Amino acid sequence: MTPELPSLAPLPSGRTYHIDSPPANALVTRELADELGRVLERFARDAAFSERNPVRLFFKPGVVGHHQVGRAADLYAVDGRGLDQWKQRWDESVERATRAGRTEEREAIMRNERAGNLGWRLYKTLQLHGRWARPAGYPVQLFGPWTRTEGPWRRISDRLLRAHRDHLHVAR
Ligand SMILES: [Zn+2]
Repeated sequence: MTPELPSLAPLPSGRTYHIDSPPANALVTRELADELGRVLERFARDAAFSERNPVRLFFKPGVVGHHQVGRAADLYAVDGRGLDQWKQRWDESVERATRAGRTEEREAIMRNERAGNLGWRLYKTLQLHGRWARPAGYPVQLFGPWTRTEGPWRRISDRLLRAHRDHLHVAR
């Protein structure tokens, strides 16, 4: 007897976030939908979005690994901007901070960037508040452009990091 596949459903919009992508782009298990929903709601509220002004999110379908059974989702854009663009903005701020002469100036640049960069903020919320899959012998299943600098898996390979330069992957 073949094991039954879990039933999958499109990840629904929440109270403070709206999913712009076609429903088929994030077909997930109930368990992943619940976990993502909880964390996305927290991200949106922390970033001052609301029911009247929800943040827009865009997913694209993945094909390998956990995606095949609806246990993973790939987030490509936050508030109309691609994760690659958020990362580029981040890198430019790091550059500017590195060139800044005074410590206070450096700190101010990065404080502003952490407050205003929604891609980074989403990554950190997923990292700090999400309970993601950790298969035996594998790292926590949260990958994105910030994984090497922020963790949780700082030893991420160049190949895997490149594969996640433009989106955030989570699995549950
Ligand atoms: Zn993925």
